[in-house]
Amino acid sequence: MYKDTNCGDPRESSVGSQITVAGWVHRRRDHGNLIFIDLRDRSGLLQVVFNPEYGDKGHDLAQSLRSEWVVQVTGKVVSRLPGAENPDLPTGQVELSATDLTVLNRSITPPFEVADDVDVDPTTRLKYRFVDLRRPKMQENLRLRHKVSHIIWDYMSEKGFTQIETPILIKSTPEGARDYVVPSRVHPGDFYALPQSPQQLKQLLMVSGVERYFQIARCFRDEDLRADRQPEHTQLDFEMSFVHQDDVMELVEDLYKNIVAETVPDGEVITPFPRLTYAEAMERFGSDKPDLRYGMELTTITETAASSDARVFQVVASSGGTIRGLVAPDCGNYGRRQTDELTEFAKSSGAQGLVFIALDVNAPSIDGLEDDHIKSPLKKFLSVDVVKKMATEMGAEPGDLMLIVAGTDKLVNTVLSNLRGEMARRLDLADPKKIAFAWVYDFPLFEWDDELKKYEPAHHVFSSPKAEHMDYLDSDPGKVIGTLWDLVCNGSEMGSGSIRIHDRDLQAKLFNIIGYTEEQIADRFGQLLTAFTYGAPPHGGMGLGLDRLVAILAGEDAIREVIAFPKTQSAFDPLFQAPSKIEEQQLDELHLRVVMPKT
Ligand code: ASP
Repeated sequence: MYKDTNCGDPRESSVGSQITVAGWVHRRRDHGNLIFIDLRDRSGLLQVVFNPEYGDKGHDLAQSLRSEWVVQVTGKVVSRLPGAENPDLPTGQVELSATDLTVLNRSITPPFEVADDVDVDPTTRLKYRFVDLRRPKMQENLRLRHKVSHIIWDYMSEKGFTQIETPILIKSTPEGARDYVVPSRVHPGDFYALPQSPQQLKQLLMVSGVERYFQIARCFRDEDLRADRQPEHTQLDFEMSFVHQDDVMELVEDLYKNIVAETVPDGEVITPFPRLTYAEAMERFGSDKPDLRYGMELTTITETAASSDARVFQVVASSGGTIRGLVAPDCGNYGRRQTDELTEFAKSSGAQGLVFIALDVNAPSIDGLEDDHIKSPLKKFLSVDVVKKMATEMGAEPGDLMLIVAGTDKLVNTVLSNLRGEMARRLDLADPKKIAFAWVYDFPLFEWDDELKKYEPAHHVFSSPKAEHMDYLDSDPGKVIGTLWDLVCNGSEMGSGSIRIHDRDLQAKLFNIIGYTEEQIADRFGQLLTAFTYGAPPHGGMGLGLDRLVAILAGEDAIREVIAFPKTQSAFDPLFQAPSKIEEQQLDELHLRVVMPKT
């Protein structure tokens, strides 16, 4: 080994010992005859001092050191002089008085400083990811991710799960995205698809009698990337036979509680995880992934609002729409600029407009509201009585601001759930220490696709309908609730799962409902349907995103921060410059010709 001690280890108790360390020059400070360097390795920083006694030659060498050079230093651990200690550094009481310095490698000037708080353009960070990953926080994130995987492995093994790798070169395994495809050389004109998830494979493993499978699996989905998505993501994928919904939920809840306890000891988790039906989540939060770290729930006030003289409310109510609102606490004093900003925000979520009603903090109570306690652009159409009634229904108090949106159910929910998040940001309501998991279950099995004019699976097509909803499959598929659920946390979806269909004919029926032809069914799902005729056990499982989980545990907003080599928002890797052209010869071998799109 080039070193016998890690930079981050020496303490007072090490004073007097002779050690050799190796790492990167983090910083160099030249104080004439004293030269200091902070030496960095994966464990932390150690101050190294080159004294004049070290000799001219050595001194000159130390003076030549630059940031990110790789060096090996031998010396004696000494106490720092009184007043020179650094309480912010675990090694801050001591320093290494160098007696030997070897330059192992030099570095040209790095593209940015290796420090956590430097502001660097994201593409530059990815282009020089090997430098970016040297930052202490990134090192910490990589280790945290490893630790989470380790806990998962231990936990799942202990619960009798077998880790099984499933193929990456496979066939379309639909999860609602586009496939990444790989051309075959040996089968001209044929393609593999990369798995969007190992869904069919893990179900086949249940038919194989594995009973408990897991994998930390890579999933590939060619979608237009939103801020928190990557073309390839990692999930804890597992499947269990002979289980009900509760069995699966209890297992995940216990695992996730352990993960948080072992990785973020001061993280606050509410247990048991609250359970909300999809309908309840939409009613209370306008979203199927509510952030439960704060309140500000939505209230429906359609009738009351429509009983006012405000035409916008009357028109929406009479055309079957909804009027809903939320209360922003203590925001009754918002000025024009703030309410304009919120209106713009609501419009960017699709709203026609946003109605405000501000209640004066000096009003004695909601019952005691008087005309001049109320401020609203719609004021002349709202009697004091109507405002009192709305405020009571919405749970507003004097000093609060009521935000009201009218429109179709879907639109109102989208706008208000976005506004709820925006108000929480403005009011700093989302405590970063809280990790608020929740289960959302009883999702509808299908969604009506207005463009394609057909039903699409809300989750995927393998989830089983609730037993009591089987009849709706023929009469009204939109009404069918599935035994399927999501785990959500702090406003993000963390994963989803379901009890699967294990009956061949029922599975085939679902394929028919979403409009697959017999040929498509045979081509894409023949293997699963056939397997189901050979004794498939009842089974269920989940796919749980690892990237988002680690990001939450690391206190990061973007999953990019917890993935070693992520891609940009346009699915590009600036480090490898991928995707890229391939050689003509490779194209020939693959029997492919590239025809560029006309621009
Ligand atoms: N295959 C699903 C997904 O990737 C998860 C599951 O149902 O197990 O979302």
